[in-house]
Parts: sequence; structure tokens; C-alpha cells
Amino acid sequence: MFTLPQTPRQNYWNRMLLNALWIVLLVYLASQIFVILSMWNTRPQLSTGNYFFLHVLVPVVIIFILNLILEYIYKRKTQFTELSITVASHLFAILIIMYISPEIHVQPLIMLLPLLVSMIYLKVSYLLASTAVCLFYIILLFLTTSTYDYTLRVDNIIIAIIFAGTSLAGFSVIGRGQDLIQSLKTSEKSEQDLRIQNIIMDRLSKIDPLTDLYNHKTFHEYLGWLIEHQQNNPFPMQLGIMDIDDFKQVNDLYGHRIGDIVLKQVAAIVLKEVGTDDFAARYGGEEFAIILTAKTLEESYEIIERIRTGIAGMFISEMEGKTVTVSIGMHDLAGTDSKNSIFQKTDDALYEAKRTGKNKIVLV
Ligand code: GH3
Ligand code: MG
Ligand code: MG
Repeated sequence: MFTLPQTPRQNYWNRMLLNALWIVLLVYLASQIFVILSMWNTRPQLSTGNYFFLHVLVPVVIIFILNLILEYIYKRKTQFTELSITVASHLFAILIIMYISPEIHVQPLIMLLPLLVSMIYLKVSYLLASTAVCLFYIILLFLTTSTYDYTLRVDNIIIAIIFAGTSLAGFSVIGRGQDLIQSLKTSEKSEQDLRIQNIIMDRLSKIDPLTDLYNHKTFHEYLGWLIEHQQNNPFPMQLGIMDIDDFKQVNDLYGHRIGDIVLKQVAAIVLKEVGTDDFAARYGGEEFAIILTAKTLEESYEIIERIRTGIAGMFISEMEGKTVTVSIGMHDLAGTDSKNSIFQKTDDALYEAKRTGKNKIVLV
């Protein structure tokens, strides 16, 4: 039989029930000692060693051993804890009824203990089984009671009514509990859907849909955040702004749809070359921004150069195998400049690259 492992909540409730079963043992012991002491003089037969052995020691030791077995199951065979506790609660009740002093007249009511335990797990099957045990016990009670003992008969009828009422109430409790679990699951599911929707919305607000790079807004946010951190705790960082050369001609010659394909392919090369410490965004139109961190200027320059040569060497089948080139302005951040001046310097470098022949990097 395949059973799922217990969840932490189930373990918590199993622990609670196990604690309750230990308390049942203590209560039984206390009640028996109380009976013996309170009837010391009036019922001398209760104070004999024989009575103590049979009615106190034997059941207490049996229940103690059963509790130890339950503790073992709880620790080592977790998946059987629920069933074992439910079955054990019935054994406890039967044992107590068998061994408790006959002076305690409400002893059949002890069967309420397993009936209640069987409701805790909100499983109809447990309650059905427990109800059957109680029914069997009631039948036994009627069979063993003399038809002439009117008071006992009335007692038994009342007990049967209490059992039936508790059992019926139990089915309603389980129904209500399952209903609650269902609505909890539904609200958990919609909360999860909402969280996924939030993640998607968050991504949509940060990512450029055409190229899958970060968008203009996110670039500025991230650059501002990095500069702030760099001023407090300097670390190597370079900014590159890249623009596709003569892109208007691509659109004019091949149309905007092909222009879009070129933008995607250029972005793919950028993404391929940047590392996990870097950040690439589509700044707007056919312009891209790249932030490189945790690298020396030489290492970063190499990456930017690989991007430039990679794009220049990419034959675009949609453009009859022709290529496009890019011009890049690059700046090594010193740690004292403001965001605007950093951006201006890099943009000036890009303009210089365009002015002096395109398809090149100008470093400032
Ligand atoms: P330069 O070498 O000086 O950068 O020349 P250029 O033609 O690339 O520059 P210009 O600013 O004259 O033209 C940029 C073109 O980029 C114009 C515009 O149609 C095109 N463009 C901007 N955004 C998109 C886009 O999302 N898709 C397409 N297909 N074209 C775009
Ligand atoms: Mg441009
Ligand atoms: Mg351009």
C-alpha cells in the first residue's frame, strides 16, 4: 500500500494526540488511586494487593507499552501514525472499561474517547469504523444486562443515545471540516495564480517584448542603483551604448518586419556574450545599453569587442546574406561621476564612433 508522507501539520496533530494518550494513562492511574483511597475503610476489598495488581498495575503497564509502540511508530513509521493512534484509542478504551473499578458506573462512556479521536483526522472511514465498534459494544451491553435490571437498561439506552448523537455530530463535523479544507485549497490556488500573474506582470514591465532584453526604464533604475552602491563601495564597472549602423536603410530596403528580425538577432548576440554579472537592455529603437561589472576594463572591452565582431560577422539570411554593423561608446566608471555625466560621456563616445567611420568602439 502506498501512503503519502505526513506533512508538518499532520505530525503536529499526531504529537498532540499522542500527548493526550499519555494524559489518559495518568488520568486512569490517578482515578484508580483515588477510588482505592476514598473507599479504604468502606470497601476493604479495594485495598488488597490483588485488586491493585489486577485493576491498576496490569492495565497501566499495558497502556504504557502501547504508548511506547505508538511513540516508535510516530518516529519511525510516520505514515502509519494516524491509523495506529485511532486503533490504539479503541484498545485503550476497551482496556480501561475491562479493568476500571466497577464502582465507576459511567464506564461505558469511556467509548466516547475513541469516537472523538476518530473525528480528529476528518476521515469518514475512521468514524464509520469507530461507530461500528461502539454499536457492537452497545449490543454487548444489552446482551449482558439482565432484563430485570430496569435502571441499568435505562442507563444503557441513554448511553446508546449519547453514542448515536456523538457519532451523527461527528459526521457533520467531518463534512464541515472537509468543506473548510476545500475552500482553503481553492483560495490557496487563487492566491498562487495571483502570485504567478504578478511575476508575469513584473516581467512584462521590465522586459522588452521584441528582444527579451531589459527595457529603458529598468536600465535607468538599475544603473542608478549600481552607481549609488559603487559610490559607497567602489567596484569595477563599465557602461556601453551600442547603436546599429545605418539601420534606417535596412528598414527602407527590406521592410520593418525584417528590421525587427535583425534587432532580435543583434540582441541574441549581446545576450550570448554578457555574463551573469552583466546587464543588457534595449535602450530604444536600434540602441542597446550594456552594463558590465566585476571585471577589469580589459576583460569588459574584450566582451564588447566580441559583441561588435559577432554582429559584423552575422550573415542575415532575410537580408540576402548581408550583414549589419554596430558602433559602441564605452566608459569606465570612476566612482565619482553622476549618473547623467556618465551617460553623457558614453553617449558622446558613441557619437565619436559614428563620426569617425562606424563599426567601432570608442572608449572614454
Ligand atoms: P546611424 O548609423 O547614424 O545610427 O544611422 P541609422 O539609420 O541607424 O539611424 P537613424 O536614427 O537615422 O535611424 C534609426 C532607424 O531605426 C529609424 C527607425 O525606423 C528604425 N527603428 C527604430 N526602432 C525600430 C523598431 O522597433 N523596428 C524597426 N524595424 N525599426 C526601428
Ligand atoms: Mg539610433
Ligand atoms: Mg543607428
